[in-house]
Order: sequence, then structure tokens, then C-alpha cells
Amino acid sequence: MSKCISILGSTGSIGRQSLEVIAACGMEVAALTANSSVEKLEAQARQFNPKLAVMTDERAAADLKVRLADTQVKVAGGMDGLLEAAAIPQADTVITAVVGMVGLRPTLAAIREGKRIGLANKETLVCAGPLVLEEAKDYGAQIIPVDSEHSALFQCLEGNRDRGEVKRLILTCSGGPFYGKTAAELQGMTREDALRHPNWSMGAKITVDSATLMNKGLEVIEAMHLYHMPPEKISVVIHRESIIHSLVEYCDNAMLAQLGAPDMRLPIQYALTWPKRVPGPAQELDLWNCGPLTFGAPDLKTFRCLDLALRAAQEGGTAGAVLNGANEEAVAQFLAGKIGFLDIAGKVEGAMEQVTVVQNPGIGDILEADRAAREAVR
Ligand code: NDP
Ligand code: MG
Repeated sequence: MSKCISILGSTGSIGRQSLEVIAACGMEVAALTANSSVEKLEAQARQFNPKLAVMTDERAAADLKVRLADTQVKVAGGMDGLLEAAAIPQADTVITAVVGMVGLRPTLAAIREGKRIGLANKETLVCAGPLVLEEAKDYGAQIIPVDSEHSALFQCLEGNRDRGEVKRLILTCSGGPFYGKTAAELQGMTREDALRHPNWSMGAKITVDSATLMNKGLEVIEAMHLYHMPPEKISVVIHRESIIHSLVEYCDNAMLAQLGAPDMRLPIQYALTWPKRVPGPAQELDLWNCGPLTFGAPDLKTFRCLDLALRAAQEGGTAGAVLNGANEEAVAQFLAGKIGFLDIAGKVEGAMEQVTVVQNPGIGDILEADRAAREAVR
């Protein structure tokens, strides 16, 4: 069970909910980091009194230093600061809650210190899954998923360590705000439409990914790496209610599911307390009033991002890094109002056609795939 935690990306949706769990469970905070939200990080630092507070934006770091001058909190900036927060000796656990591939180096830094990783930053696993897991094995670092689906799978796989008995992993998918819409209807969807998720309140990038269903595609790749399963043994089921967080089907056709209210504080907490369970702030699920649970197949023709991600999963190698880099860039362009909603899939597909995939990649190949994919989208 974790005692002292470093949160990379503490001002975001996952970061803030992590702090709620930490406060409720009486754990300590070693380091907090953000990109540019100075006021939020100052408030968090005053409340949780970490050893270190980091702003990756250097100007914001200078500002934070002035603001926290009356405290004992050390302030650092840039990628060096982020790496320092990841490797800080006081922390036994690092929650990786930054958004995007920028999380790769700090995740590796924390792994090399043998820390438990509460892994939210899925882009890192999508780009460099085998590399990250190999390092974790070498350094004896536990990787416990924070993503609700992967936490559900983790829980359904516990006590069944013989993976030969697993027939299939089934990831549930809410369908997002545009469920049931046709391609023609999707054409006109705006940033504001995409940011209105029915069940979860999350950061902007993952909310757009949930609208395109790219999020589910990234999660298939994440599951493939975390649980060493080939993509053909991972399925996606539309489950609008987000009550069942995922399922494992075994060879005897038994299915185990994990249920809970749609509340990220539960998987965050389990990543910190595993293998124990303790009472915490997550909402209780009221089975008697949550209504019927429904299941259906995803529409891969309309939600092309999911289809593209499944193709990248099949292809392997740097295909995940290309998919992810192109998607990060395309979503940024969509959020900036530069491209339309359906252009996201078009841009990602274009990048996948342009950038050559390398098998068994090293870190250099992955960074190059990411760079080339972003350039193709630009
Ligand atoms: P948010 O956008 O809410 O928060 C992102 C955090 O990362 C903020 O603290 C932000 O700082 C910081 N950050 C952003 N850009 C950079 C950068 N370039 N360098 C360093 N730090 C940066 O994201 P979420 O909390 O929603 O998501 C975080 C990760 O968790 C993502 O990978 C997402 O896919 C994953 N995840 C999220 C879920 C959710 O429910 N939100 C569920 C499952 C997975 P600042 O505030 O200064 O911008
Ligand atoms: Mg998820």
C-alpha cells in the first residue's frame, strides 16, 4: 500500500481526484507537477505541503517560486523538474496523470527508481508499451492501471494468474456524446459538442478521444501491452451506462465483470492501496436505482478512429506511436478550431499511410515515429 505519492499532472482531472483520495486515505504527497496552472498548483502545494512543486512551463515555474517563497516547498521547472518529481526519493508511488506522450520520460524515470506506477497516462503505453513493461520488470516496479477499464481487468484477472485460461478481454465503451449519430451528423460537431461527455468529467484531450472513440482504440492497445494479449483477443462492447467497467471471459465461458459508479476515484484509490482495499471517497453504486444495463456493438464505419486504432494494434511496432502522435496533433488542431470533427480520423489515417512502421522499436524509433506522425498531420 502506498504511503507517499508524487503526482505528475496534479492540476488535471485525474490529478485532482488523486489528491481527494490521498487526503481521504491519510497518505502523504512528495511532489506535485503541472504545466502552466500556477494558481491551482500553488493552492495544492499550500494544502498538501510537498517537498517539490514543478511547473513544466519555465515562466510559470518562476512565478510559482515567488508565490511559494514563504514555504519550505522547493520549486523546479521544465522537463528536468518533471523528471525530478518522478524520481523523488520520498515517494514510493508515482501517479502519471499528465496528458500525452510527454509522460514517457518521467514514467521511465520513476520505473528506474523501482517505484509503483499508478498509470493514467495511457499515451505512454500506447507508444512504448513493451519497452515500459520490460523496464518495469528489470527494475521491479509495479505498474497498476488507473484507467477504469484496465483497473477493472486487473481486478477481474486477480487470482487467475494463468493467462492461458483467459479467452478474451472485453473493454466497455460508453459510446461518448455522439453515440448513434451518422457520419453526416458528425460533420458539423463542434468543440463544445465534443466536450460534453455523458458519464465522465475529464480533461479536454481525452474527452475528444471519447467522442471519436479513439480513446477506446488507445485502450485496446494499452490492454494488449499490460496484459500481454493479442489484439484479436480483445473486444469492445458499447455499454452506455458506464457501470460495468470491463470484463474478462475465461475459457470455460465464465465472464467476470467489475461494477461501480462512474467515479475515477475508485480505480485511482485501488492503484494506491492494492493489494488491500480500504474505505474511500468513491460513490457507492445503487444497483436498485441504476436502471437497466445495455450492451451493443461499436459502429466502426462511422467512428473510424476506433477502426484505425485496431489496425495499429494489429500492425504492432511503432504503429501505436504513429497513431498516437497523429491523434495528439489532430485533436490539438480540432480543439484550436482549425479542423472539423471528422478530419481527426482523416488526419490520423493520412499519417498512418505516410509514416513507415518499424518492428521491435527502440526508444529512438518511437520518438521518431511520434515526430514524423505529428509532422504529417501538420
Ligand atoms: P487533464 O487535461 O485534466 O490534466 C492534464 C495534467 O497534465 C494537468 O495537470 C496539466 O497541467 C498537465 N500537463 C498538460 N500538458 C503538459 C505538458 N506538456 N507537460 C507537463 N504537464 C502537462 O487530463 P486528464 O486528467 O483528464 O488525463 C490525464 C491522463 O490520464 C491522460 O493520459 C488521460 O488519457 C488519462 N486518463 C484520464 C481519465 C479521466 O477520467 N480524466 C480516465 C482514464 C485515463 P496544467 O493544468 O498546467 O495544464
Ligand atoms: Mg478509460
